[in-house]
Amino acid sequence: MLVPRPTRVEIDLVALRHNFLEIQRTVGADCDVLAVVKANAYGHGVSHVAPILAAAGADLFGVALLEEGVELRRLGIKQPIIILGSVFHGQEVEVLQHQLTPVLYDLTCAHQLDRAASEAGRTIDYHLKVDTGMGRLGFRVKLLDEVLPVLKSLKNLNMTGLMSHLAVADEPERSLTGLQYQAFAGVVDKVESFGFTPCYRHIANSAGIYSRKLTGCNMVRPGISLYGGLTGGPFDPSFSQQPVMRFVSQVAQLKELPAGEGISYGHRFVTSRDSKVAAIPVGYADGYNRLLTNCGEVLIHGQRFPVAGTVCMDWILIDVTDLADVQIGDDVTLLGRDGDEIITAEEWADKVGSITYEVFCNISKRVPRVFVNGPTQAHCLQG
Ligand SMILES: *Cc1c(COP(=O)(O)O)cnc(C)c1O
Repeated sequence: MLVPRPTRVEIDLVALRHNFLEIQRTVGADCDVLAVVKANAYGHGVSHVAPILAAAGADLFGVALLEEGVELRRLGIKQPIIILGSVFHGQEVEVLQHQLTPVLYDLTCAHQLDRAASEAGRTIDYHLKVDTGMGRLGFRVKLLDEVLPVLKSLKNLNMTGLMSHLAVADEPERSLTGLQYQAFAGVVDKVESFGFTPCYRHIANSAGIYSRKLTGCNMVRPGISLYGGLTGGPFDPSFSQQPVMRFVSQVAQLKELPAGEGISYGHRFVTSRDSKVAAIPVGYADGYNRLLTNCGEVLIHGQRFPVAGTVCMDWILIDVTDLADVQIGDDVTLLGRDGDEIITAEEWADKVGSITYEVFCNISKRVPRVFVNGPTQAHCLQG
């Protein structure tokens, strides 16, 4: 078998399961959990993440794309799969074939799905999306009086869920979230008054779950909190979440340089003393953000060392002058824990002006995901 370079992502499946069970405990027995596994489970590797969550008790799964839903069926996921994004014209047959549940917020799409279902002699379950303040997808509330009779007339479509999406749930001091809940309660009444009986009503993402009571809802849609990346905000203090991902590599080259040497592209770092520099085989093509130039840190032997100079496509350089016994092949932690030190996704996100979600999603395909603490110690190159 081909031996890959030592740069890899380790996914702790026990931590993943723990985070899922924490969410389940928080929302209680009367509320179902839809596990959001879009974008390759936020970069964590859906092939292993989805089966672990299914075994832990995920009631439904959420993806952004039809393609991602098809992939989940291929992995053997039997639970309802909600396509949180769009179903595009031409994809209706696949929706039927793989028993996927589209989210509807467009009447053209509704008609196309109804026709495809009719031609197949089947019905399609869907969740209706209403825009209560996100300003993105969803029917505006004031359009519902026009929309609902049309949906009612489409006999091959079956509304099994009613949903909306929160815009500022991660800032609990803002009043908008309360207003969105209020608007959603009105929407539930309106939809029911037209004779629909959707069994699921849901609005909360991870921050929504941990920031307020889920009045009127019986399902939640956590994504980032499954992966230990929910940060900031005065969330429920009883909440204990563990990081799932470590991003690691090894020292590939070591060199001694005199004071006054420029290193890496642009010579943005110049040694101020006799220095020792380590080259690590990871770069922006792997998702090591180029904005970490001269400001990222990594862990070696459980201590922090700075990125020296420009992050390259395939390499970073680390100033290890202060580490006496460093050797080629020593482990380097880019993200995650080594001994008592930890580099969190939040720290990394703050440095590059982003959010933990993007840090995870940007770790590219060419970095193998290695799954640890699983029922089987499985390795896989992508997926
Ligand atoms: C991605 C997504 C979520 C999950 O959000 P997190 O903040 O990661 O918990 C929930 N609902 C919808 C509609 C989404 O697209």
